[in-house]
Amino acid sequence: TSSSCNLHVAIVSSPGVGHLIPAVVLGNRLAAHHGVRVVVFQVTTEASPPESKLLKLPLHQLVELVELPPVDISHLVGPTTQVVTQLCLMLRHARPLASSAVAAMDPRPAALVVDHFGTELLSIAAEFGMAKYVYVPSNAWFAALTLYLPVLDQQVEGQYVDQTEPLEIPGCKPVRPEDVVDPMLDRNDQQYDEYVKMGLAMASSDGILINSWEDLDHKTLQALRKNETLKSVIKTPVLLVGPLTRPVEPDGQNIKLMSWLDRQPNESVVFVSFGSGGVLPQAQITELAWGLELSQQRFVWVVRRPTDGRVDDAFFALSDGTDEAPTFLPNGFMGRVQNVGFLVPKWAQQVQILTHPAIGGFLSHCGWNSTLESITNGVPIIAWPLYAEQKMNATFLAEEAGVALRPRAAPVVGRAEIERSVRTLMEGEDGKSLREKVKQLKMSGNEALKVGGSSHNSMCEVLAKIASSKGQ
Ligand code: UDP
Repeated sequence: TSSSCNLHVAIVSSPGVGHLIPAVVLGNRLAAHHGVRVVVFQVTTEASPPESKLLKLPLHQLVELVELPPVDISHLVGPTTQVVTQLCLMLRHARPLASSAVAAMDPRPAALVVDHFGTELLSIAAEFGMAKYVYVPSNAWFAALTLYLPVLDQQVEGQYVDQTEPLEIPGCKPVRPEDVVDPMLDRNDQQYDEYVKMGLAMASSDGILINSWEDLDHKTLQALRKNETLKSVIKTPVLLVGPLTRPVEPDGQNIKLMSWLDRQPNESVVFVSFGSGGVLPQAQITELAWGLELSQQRFVWVVRRPTDGRVDDAFFALSDGTDEAPTFLPNGFMGRVQNVGFLVPKWAQQVQILTHPAIGGFLSHCGWNSTLESITNGVPIIAWPLYAEQKMNATFLAEEAGVALRPRAAPVVGRAEIERSVRTLMEGEDGKSLREKVKQLKMSGNEALKVGGSSHNSMCEVLAKIASSKGQ
């Protein structure tokens, strides 16, 4: 819209593919649909190469991606330091770097947007008289929990995981103790304190942007608008501006897989992938391989080497995509599935795959980017959450959105359960209704982003507010 054409916005992205992607996608959206000039400051670390070196993220001509000098937090972390703590430490150390970068800009951007790990950087906006926004590239239910946590922190005694009743967030779907997000697993861990601070700081922003839309997050949105108790805690507008997802990136290396998919019937292939950071223990890989084989369904599986450690082990160590012999798969597996299965080592062009008409299901870890990429392509989900807020996402997708089925959770999900889930999704009646629902949501997501749609309107509202605060 012409009113926002002179605006300039700075976005800070925290390390991690799952954080850089939504920041760049938001920047591209602001540029392409609202004429906003955008700079994305990418926080980088000494420890791992910047994600932008490994991912080819197309940028709109109004968007500039700037790597901040790397931060070094190695002296502050040990083997047990959790991902959320690491991210918060990295962002804290990047504060002076981001502040200098903003100070050097002339004219200065009218608004600063940080993701939820970067809330301490909002003080930079205050320093330079900029509007301050938090972009939570996830759903409204997760945002509501984060914002309400400072209250739960006062109300709930003992560990959340030991509660016998679900945690109440006024007006919202309650959160079951077994579904709480990682930083709530242990209240004595530093990441819990970081997470409580995050909730408090988010409430002091000028607004919170969420990568979801009215139809998908209807229940939480009603609570955010109407529930007085919740509103008295949250205090700041929560705006649903999604679904914002990456476009398909043309990639020459994918030809073999794409031509294999071209030869498969429509909606006949299940795509199996656990995001940028997910890895499975050996025992689970074995069961998954057997489950896929026994299901007799076609599949594309992004296979990673097993971990002995944490399921988020790959989070800061994005693979280089080199081939390696999958010695950790069951004996003879490759031969037995050669006509129905396609294995991709470590990293796949996920959006390109999900867009292909042959794909009919996604066995996913339910990271929010993956979730949206699935929904916006009308692909129903088998929810296999691993870490972060993924258990909440899985519950939301299965119980509120109606687009996912969830295998019975167990330390190791057995082959029979996997076989049953894959068959149900691809061939069963339940699968059919999930597919219908996800296609409706695909359409409503499209509508939300059009001029006059709910998400487009919300973004216009934010930009008008930024423009008017700039004029003051
Ligand atoms: N991704 C990809 N290829 C892979 C794994 C992941 O392109 O093999 C992309 C995926 O499409 C998504 C992002 O990486 O955009 C992962 O983000 P998500 O929020 O799903 O999960 P996270 O990686 O943060 O756990």
